[in-house]
Amino acid sequence: MGENAIKDWVEVNCALCDSTEKEAVFKTRDGHFLARCVNCGFQFYSPRPTSQQIEAYYHEEEFYEKTNITAVEIVMDILAHHNLHQGKLLDIGCGVGALVALAQKKGWEAVGLDPSPRAAELAKQVLDLEITQSYLAESNFEPETFDVVVLLAVLEHAFDPLAIMRQVKDILKPGGRVIFSTPNLDNLTYHLMDHKPEYSWFIKEHINHFTLKTHRTLLKTVGFQEPEFHMCGHFTIEGGGADVKLLPSPTFPRAARSLFAGSLDAPAQNLFAKSSAALSDSELVEILRQQAGLWNLGEGEYSLSDAVYVSAQKVDCS
Ligand SMILES: [Zn+2]
Repeated sequence: MGENAIKDWVEVNCALCDSTEKEAVFKTRDGHFLARCVNCGFQFYSPRPTSQQIEAYYHEEEFYEKTNITAVEIVMDILAHHNLHQGKLLDIGCGVGALVALAQKKGWEAVGLDPSPRAAELAKQVLDLEITQSYLAESNFEPETFDVVVLLAVLEHAFDPLAIMRQVKDILKPGGRVIFSTPNLDNLTYHLMDHKPEYSWFIKEHINHFTLKTHRTLLKTVGFQEPEFHMCGHFTIEGGGADVKLLPSPTFPRAARSLFAGSLDAPAQNLFAKSSAALSDSELVEILRQQAGLWNLGEGEYSLSDAVYVSAQKVDCS
């Protein structure tokens, strides 16, 4: 990118708390300036490209043809987890509509929005599905229309995530639920690589870099209940050194087994005289607790996976 382009970039306030106080973190590998809000800790690009410059990128790449089947299945699992089996569902940024199609098949009254004309065209061609070519801000849904609103890999791209979530809250019925995914910056890989500008999710179109903590801030600010985090193997670290406490979420053992696989064989033999495959969940957590002393993670909430799925219920005004 040329220097001229960077001159057009704009300084922005924190999108979550509107604070003007931010500190520079570093310049990423492809030249973006990562900043951290001094008030709430949210990390984001500033200065950053204008919305027109980012839009141009979306139009030049075939961004919408990638369907993430795993993500669609995870959403169906989260719906089942919350005992949600029918109703009105909206998928914002639905791409070619894979989730909309599957949800319809399962009995949901599901609709999708995507700003890309190509996405709508492919949805029609491949799935015989009508999706609406629009941003949420330009849509005109009545308040309290949907039981569930889904946004997969949307908020990290959004110029105003707070405005989107406020509108999502408005169009949800009382007791309705939002389900969304984003990368989580407080993931183990990023921390173990010592927070390097080379981290793979610092790509130009990710202007927001959420963590579990800033997801809580976002949801609380807008008026959602405490979120549940899914599928990311999250865990809390308390204390440090030999006394470190690792408090695992229910999904932590499964995620840890898939991430660490055979690399736990030696400690499993040393500590419990068995192979890593034979470890119970609590033995696995104990090994990783000892390991966590070496990882040098500060107190806080982390995930094993670099992506997090979040679900939260709207707070209803009575
Ligand atoms: Zn902030």
